[in-house]
Amino acid sequence: MNSAEKYVAESLAASGLAVISGPIAASLRPDLWRAGTEAGMDLARLKVANRPGVARYSVQFEGLNRPVEVLARSADRLALRLEWVTGFRATDIDVVEPPQGTRPKPAPLAVKPDPRADRYPSVVTKEEGRQCGDCEHFTAGRTCMASEVSGIERPHGGTRRRCLGFTPTFQNQDQRNGRQLWPEVQAQPTSHSQGECDVR
Ligand code: SF4
Repeated sequence: MNSAEKYVAESLAASGLAVISGPIAASLRPDLWRAGTEAGMDLARLKVANRPGVARYSVQFEGLNRPVEVLARSADRLALRLEWVTGFRATDIDVVEPPQGTRPKPAPLAVKPDPRADRYPSVVTKEEGRQCGDCEHFTAGRTCMASEVSGIERPHGGTRRRCLGFTPTFQNQDQRNGRQLWPEVQAQPTSHSQGECDVR
């Protein structure tokens, strides 16, 4: 363990904070450094980030030109504690990095509903959905000609959906349309049952 690491470890153990400043470190630990410049060079090489349970702060002390980095286990009365240790009054304290292990977990990415999927997932129907590929309104360009009823312009041909615009192609043995197949969907207040569509 070099002088800088020893200084930080012992400062955190003794007071719960370590001031990463050459002049202050040298004044606090004359047993480790003879001058602030020497301490400053050692501390500049120190890796201060990623210490478990330790937060990093940027602290402006009264009378010092630049903010100083401070490591601390607790923010409780930090300004006062810094003044006790250094003799300088802290006039401004900013959190640079919260304590390791205390970051809020990122919220799980919201799963975007697939606009091509069935629009009524909560509605129970006796009949299962039909593929757009079996519908008269599905074009060769993979668009829906009854989008004002179906609510979708580019459906996925292979996805089963309960759609009030469904109109079976002439090859289908079952010639029931969407309203006949899924009356439960039509009963939904939010359904497009009132839309204009050439359904048989
Ligand atoms: S009306 Fe409905 S079932 Fe027919 S192509 Fe459009 S989205 Fe698909």
